[in-house]
Order: sequence, then C-alpha cells, then structure tokens
Amino acid sequence: MSEFNIKHHGGRASRADRVEKAAKTRVVEIAGGKACGGRELLLIAGPCAVEDENQMESSAAFLGRLGVDALRGCIFKPRTSPYSYQGMGEEGIALLDRVKRQFEMPVVTEVMSREQIEAVDEVSDVLQIGSRNMQNFELLKQVGLLNKPVILKRGLSATIEEFLMAAEYILSGGNERVILCERGIRSFDQATRNVLDLGAVAVLKSMTDLPVMVDPSHALGKSEFVATMAGAAIAAGADGLLVECHPRPAQSVSDARQALSFEEMEDLINTVGPIAEAVGRSFRQGDFQNTVHHIAC
Ligand code: PEP
Ligand code: MN
Repeated sequence: MSEFNIKHHGGRASRADRVEKAAKTRVVEIAGGKACGGRELLLIAGPCAVEDENQMESSAAFLGRLGVDALRGCIFKPRTSPYSYQGMGEEGIALLDRVKRQFEMPVVTEVMSREQIEAVDEVSDVLQIGSRNMQNFELLKQVGLLNKPVILKRGLSATIEEFLMAAEYILSGGNERVILCERGIRSFDQATRNVLDLGAVAVLKSMTDLPVMVDPSHALGKSEFVATMAGAAIAAGADGLLVECHPRPAQSVSDARQALSFEEMEDLINTVGPIAEAVGRSFRQGDFQNTVHHIAC
C-alpha cells in the first residue's frame, strides 16, 4: 500500500488525503442540478451504442419521463473484435446533440482518444472511460485536464489498487469530478459475462471519497439479472447505476443480450426504489412514478 502515500505534483490532494476523507462521499455535479454522491442516486440509462434517430429519441422520451437523470449512448465503441460494430462515429454526434436539446437530458458517452474528447466536447456532459482503457494513462491524463465529470470503469481484471491509481491519474491532473464504476471483473465462470464485485463497492467507499456507481448490465451480461443486482448494488452502498436499455433489445447492435426493454427498465426502478429507501437513498421522481403515486392516493 506504500504507493498510496505518494504525493502528487503541484501540492494537490494526495491519495493518502483521500483515504482520510473517505468517510464522506464527495458530490460530483453532472448537469442541471443532478449529481452523484449525495442522498439522491444518479441513474444513467440508455442504449449501449447510438444507432439511429428513432432509437435515441424514443429512449430519451421514455427514460426522461421515468426520472432517469442522464442518457447514455456511445458513438465510439471499444469492441474486442475489430470486425464488430465500431460505433456511428462523427455522424452520431449531431444526433446525440439534437436528442439532448430536445429532451433536455444530460448525455454520457465514451471516449478513447484525445480526438474523440474534442469531437464530443460540446455534446457530452459526462465522459466515460471504459474498462478497456482504465489504464490508458495518456487518455487519463487528458481527461484530467478537463473540468467535466468522468465515469471511470474498472478494468476487466484490475485490482482495487490499480483502479484507484487510475482515478488518481485524472485527479492529479486537476479534474476532481471523478466517479468510479464497478462493472464486473473477469472470472473462471462462464455463467455470467463477468462477476459483479459488490465487495469492491464497500471497500472502495472505505478507501476514497469518490462516488461509486455500479453497472449491472456489463457485469452480468444477461438482462434477467440486471434489476436484482441493481438492488443489491444500492443496498451495498453504491451511489448510482449505469444501465443499458433499448427500445428493441433484440435488435441492439451491441450488447443485445443484456439490454433491458422499457418495461424492464420501469420494473427495475420499482424494484430498486424500496431498497434505496431502506438505506436512506432515493431516485429522482419521474412522471410515471408520480402517476402511480397519484393513483395510489
Ligand atoms: C459500455 O459501457 O458500453 C462498455 C463498453 O462498458 P465496459 O467498458 O464496462 O465494457
Ligand atoms: Mn455496452
């Protein structure tokens, strides 16, 4: 653990200082009063990849009404195979921009290079650094120079120490708006895509003041397990959820097997809501929840 005592340049807060502050989670502001790390949970949902106008418009319309805080949609896709769909690229930027303005939803999208950071600068409210790039140190240094929230996803086989040190690359550059995301780690078992390490949520929260989100979609890789594990994540102390959802899951160009339908997304909120309440947290209320509340009264 000696590395945790290394002081970073410029007299900025060190890793050791952050351990001391771990008892109180920092609040990372996203946009429009939405944040991660406070009492209210941050709920991000949307398709794995931006595919077309209809897909993004219907997602934003539905998820916005459901009370989802931010819309995800990747334009640049880091795929294991170079022959798999690589994302819509530049064409998707204008599309994402239109949807963001029309539905007034903050947007989360992944970047893999400096060029991509520049390309999505206007449209992105939050940048995602995916698992495959968790230790792309030059990329981490680049986003460290920005004043924009960054969701850093845990590497496929990264230890907690490596994860925290990757975050440190961003923080030490001056960008204090880092959100960690546990998304499952590689294991011997093929029954699920990865193994969701909920222990890591508890451990991370004891080691850093950074908020911790959980992505149950990539962790399990199967839609039928997403809601249950989302509830478990919140019970374990996660500060938010990142969930893949698609208007027509079976037709999703990437990660179809784990994508939730709109109905399943609504069920997830209904499942996780009471668990959140039990641990003193809550989701922002959407119109649908208000409607249900109305009828119940
Ligand atoms: C994603 O969010 O679509 C993604 C590729 O996630 P991960 O980097 O966790 O695999
Ligand atoms: Mn995906």
